Amino acid sequence: MPQFCDVAVPVPLDAVFTYRIPEDSPEPVIGGRVIVPFREKRLCGVVTELHDREPSFTTRRLSQVLDSTPALTPELMQLGRWIAQYYIAPVGEVLRTMLPLSAEFRRVIGYRITDKGATALHAAATSGSSLRSQKEPEHQDLEYAVLNRLSDGEIVREATLRSATGATKSVLQSLLRKKWIAREDLSDVRDASRTVEFARLKEVSGKLNANQQTIVDYLRSQEEQRAPIEALRQLAVPRTTLQTLVRRGIVELIKEAADFHVSGLKPRKLEFLFTPAQKAALNAISHAVGECKFAPMLLHGVTGSGKTAVYLSAMQAVLAKGRSALLLVPEIGLTPAMAADLHQIFGDEVAILHSSLSQDERAEQWKCIRNGESHIVVGTRSAIFAPLPDLALIVVDEEHDHSYKQEEMPRYHARDVAVMRAKMCDATVVLGSATPSLETYHNAVQGKYRLLELPERIEKRPLPEVEVLDMREEFQRTKKDEVLSRKLVAEIGERLSRGEQVMVLLNRRGYSAFVLCRECGESVQCKNCAISMTYHKREHRLVCHYCGYMRPAPKTCPKCGSEYVQYLGTGSEKLEHILHGLFPQARIARLDRDTVRGREDFERMLTALQAGEIDLLVGTQMIAKGHDVANVTLVGVVGSDAALSFPDFRAAERTFQLLTQVAGRAGRGDTPGKVVLQTFFPDHYAIQFAAAHDYHGFYEKEIRFRSWMHYPPFNAVSNVLVRSHKLEEALAWSGILGRWFQSTKREGVRVMGPAAAAIVKLKTEYRYHFLLKSPSRERMNSLLRAMLEHADKQKIPRNNVVVDVDALSLI
Ligand SMILES: [Zn+2]
Ligand SMILES: [Zn+2]
Repeated sequence: MPQFCDVAVPVPLDAVFTYRIPEDSPEPVIGGRVIVPFREKRLCGVVTELHDREPSFTTRRLSQVLDSTPALTPELMQLGRWIAQYYIAPVGEVLRTMLPLSAEFRRVIGYRITDKGATALHAAATSGSSLRSQKEPEHQDLEYAVLNRLSDGEIVREATLRSATGATKSVLQSLLRKKWIAREDLSDVRDASRTVEFARLKEVSGKLNANQQTIVDYLRSQEEQRAPIEALRQLAVPRTTLQTLVRRGIVELIKEAADFHVSGLKPRKLEFLFTPAQKAALNAISHAVGECKFAPMLLHGVTGSGKTAVYLSAMQAVLAKGRSALLLVPEIGLTPAMAADLHQIFGDEVAILHSSLSQDERAEQWKCIRNGESHIVVGTRSAIFAPLPDLALIVVDEEHDHSYKQEEMPRYHARDVAVMRAKMCDATVVLGSATPSLETYHNAVQGKYRLLELPERIEKRPLPEVEVLDMREEFQRTKKDEVLSRKLVAEIGERLSRGEQVMVLLNRRGYSAFVLCRECGESVQCKNCAISMTYHKREHRLVCHYCGYMRPAPKTCPKCGSEYVQYLGTGSEKLEHILHGLFPQARIARLDRDTVRGREDFERMLTALQAGEIDLLVGTQMIAKGHDVANVTLVGVVGSDAALSFPDFRAAERTFQLLTQVAGRAGRGDTPGKVVLQTFFPDHYAIQFAAAHDYHGFYEKEIRFRSWMHYPPFNAVSNVLVRSHKLEEALAWSGILGRWFQSTKREGVRVMGPAAAAIVKLKTEYRYHFLLKSPSRERMNSLLRAMLEHADKQKIPRNNVVVDVDALSLI
């Protein structure tokens, strides 16, 4: 057995750590989990190497080996190393993200009494005065109670200790400061497979009281005379009754593994009527899968062209060959209805990974996939790490969607990771979208990705007519600053009178965008962020959309006390209010993050829309994503060109994508659709090409701009954010790094900054940033690594320097 192992632990450090393997320990495996001491803690890490090279420093011994077979296969370990290298992310954090098994590792803290504490307790007891002082008598009593509970020297878990004595965290901290007690890390591994506890009737003997009789009768009425404990708790008997029955041997308790499967479902043959373009795309994908070679493809299909049917058929073909397929969908796309459809199509073979799973459920799904019970995985971003064996096909639906980018460590992009994973396992990867990202389409144009196109909607339905309405002209005519143009109001009225449905997009939630004082000219800002707060009328309060901070809506200016405060700008809540006024008879609903809390709300709203229970749906970009409602014949777009003035080189691309996607909601049934697009920038190319449904035209124009400006896909762009709760630190640290960048040879890499970030204060942190551009990713990454080393030498904590490779968000 090797003497040492290198372990990647989940800490923000770009290193692995060497531990000695104890002689009596089972042998660890590469890709398996181990528990190791790290500083004062015990952490669960992943073994990256086994060796006999004795380090020059003294090594600690690993505490426990958790896996005898790798939790991460060699393929996934390779992918993890690539992510750590490409995104300059600590490898331990990457591997933790890939393994959803943290529920098995439980952080438990315990306490024991110290000699000093025992002396203090003894002194207090003999003097009879207790530890009481005049100040805070209660606090002292609690300290005494804690010491008493620990007096026999055993280690007691924090939760037990607190419930036994009533001690608060601050009591424990005070005892720790006095060194009367000490902390112990009792973190341990538990079996995460969920169990259900049953009660079963054995043999009735002796007399039963009324409560006992109730339970016995209930169990007799059940199949096999057994029932889950949970069911017994619904009976109107005290909990102790069951314990008594168990003690008397009348009832026994059994634990069984919970069953997560909807069992008995067999995959179903799909019967789609494919258009020639769909057939061609499906053939191309199936052929590539059969070749067992890396084959990246872009499926560019207009909205309503039936991309999903192509994916599902291709996945079924893979399943029929006994191989595996993975489908990634954007956060909002994975509704319960879609999950039900997937179970219909793939039966028990499909595992669904979404963000509302509990950690236990996620771990359970992960194990099913790992054991080869599920060959099909559908999920959001992190599903790209699903441990599928023999992976033949990866599909990334709506590949342009920004929810694929993780905006916290490790800051990976699941679409790009998907391409790399396909490359590593010789699989086919299909990126699908009606509005592909510039990067992806450029790869297709360059011949790196094979381009498959679905240029027409299914059943030859026409794309909707788009009317661009110049809001500057509207103002000149009416001299009124109305949110809705006369034309859009008239069009809405017409559809409603015909019993058709309408959607209106306004990509800003809340009632008023900001609150302004007419006397001092200040808007009300969040106390944590350099951002104006938004007025929410129903709750009558101001909300910060970045950190969630809330305060009551002010009657007077918080700065100068003036009574002349004005509520300005329109959000979706106000638009709903305005529409109620204009169309009092219409059934109006609003879809945004204030009305939709979870997947169920979202689903309920869509079902109501589909059932025709809603005439008019107002909402933010949530309404733009992939809903197929046949009776929506008009889409109004209000104020959604505001994003064009954002200081972000992707502003035009984002606006084009949003407008095209929302326009795509119109006319998906038999009646042709129409879009009324209100804008203050009618001549902007993003608006014009979106109105003409001309992706290629937009691409040609935008790609030239990217080329001139040295932006992606021609250059790699990284953002380095320096942040601190203290302004002086943020300034000093960005100064240190700025001087280092200036004095360093940085051939082929442009460095801009330091500059204040677009939001200079966010969640009480002050933020400065650098933007790096380079045609050579290798050079840029080696410069970034050198920068992090310098930051480390200068004692700037790693968490305060955020490196975002291929940054999407520059705020
Ligand atoms: Zn004021
Ligand atoms: Zn805030």
